[in-house]
Amino acid sequence: MVGKDEKTYDVMEIRREFPILERQVNGHPLIYLDSAASSQKPRAVIESQREYLSHFHSNIHRGAHALATQATEAFEGSREIVREYFNASKSSEIVFTSGATDSINLVAGTWGRSNLKSDSTILLTRLEHHSNIVPWQILATEIGCNIEVVDVLSDGSLDLSDFNEKLSLKPSLVCFSHVSNALGSINDVKKLTSLAHHAGSVVLIDGSQATPHCQVDLQDIDCDFYAFSGHKMYGPTGIGVLYGKLDLLELMPPWRGGGEMISSVSFEEPTTFNIPPYKFEAGTPNISGVIGLAQAISWMKSVGVDKIAAHELALTDYAHKKLLRIEGLKIYGTAEHKAGVVSFLVDGTHPSDLGTLLDQLGVAVRTGSHCTEPLMKWLGISGTVRASFAAYTTFEEIDALVAGVERAIKMLR
Ligand code: PMP
Repeated sequence: MVGKDEKTYDVMEIRREFPILERQVNGHPLIYLDSAASSQKPRAVIESQREYLSHFHSNIHRGAHALATQATEAFEGSREIVREYFNASKSSEIVFTSGATDSINLVAGTWGRSNLKSDSTILLTRLEHHSNIVPWQILATEIGCNIEVVDVLSDGSLDLSDFNEKLSLKPSLVCFSHVSNALGSINDVKKLTSLAHHAGSVVLIDGSQATPHCQVDLQDIDCDFYAFSGHKMYGPTGIGVLYGKLDLLELMPPWRGGGEMISSVSFEEPTTFNIPPYKFEAGTPNISGVIGLAQAISWMKSVGVDKIAAHELALTDYAHKKLLRIEGLKIYGTAEHKAGVVSFLVDGTHPSDLGTLLDQLGVAVRTGSHCTEPLMKWLGISGTVRASFAAYTTFEEIDALVAGVERAIKMLR
């Protein structure tokens, strides 16, 4: 069967590559609409990790044997796959971390701690996930610097005039998400980066929700740092990336101390540190995670990221239209440019009750604040029901969501 959006996109063929989609939940076929929290994994990713663990597992970089060489080649080859896919200019700009949260904490703990002063300003936005708020709050408390927040408009897009106004404060650092996890709004990151650079700021982008949905060209965006997680883009959990421009990474002090991140260690002389990216990769890394992430990228390339994006856009439009037919249902986040996320509330029902009843029908959605409490507070709500889509989502699954919501409403009202 062919996806409704375009003939070349065979969603059923894609689904066959995801073993988990064959399972039943609560007696119903699984309808997985929680991909923004974590996407499911294609067989190619699962197999790549199994293959590594079964045939060439070894620690990397320092072994004098065949397995160590093979594992090192796979690990560093994966770094090159990531570099090429995201169009970073050098593979030394790709630092492997445990996820977006870890990547942002790395920048806060190194670049932030050594560059920000008590009279500095960090500019954030009200759209941010807690991962792009709390590390900055911890740092700001430590060094006594100021945090300013850019507002959002009622449709969930960023308030550009407020962004420009706050840039007049000459923030040292400007941090914003590429795509909002709660509302789906897509920021024009190239434009925001250019405006922030004009104000003399360093720019960090949280790309966690963008990498599953669009092609990210780091040199084109020209940001200084870009953070994302593997598990949201069909890759494994526990692996993420911090992209940083090499001149910044070179000047940054190390992050965690340990093996691999040093050049020489001495009790008599000062210990010296390795070059990026190794300076920031202390200890044994998540080798199978890195291999799985590279495989996820290859998988996305084989399907075509633009095709996935077009399919998800069609799904999002369809979901908006169908859900809005339900009386008393309000969608939060109606920006013109949106990724595959639909957040909503229904009059007279609590989101967690809706989530529980949908789960009984096999429909997996997320409910709550989605780690965006400041945004929810600004919206005047405590949370939403969030349905999120991926390459394998079908229009029929959205029909099932709508039918499930209608059924739940009858039970709850
Ligand atoms: N930022 C955004 C926008 C997210 O959606 C998430 C995950 N919910 C994160 C950061 C944190 O990602 P991770 O938990 O993989 O570190």
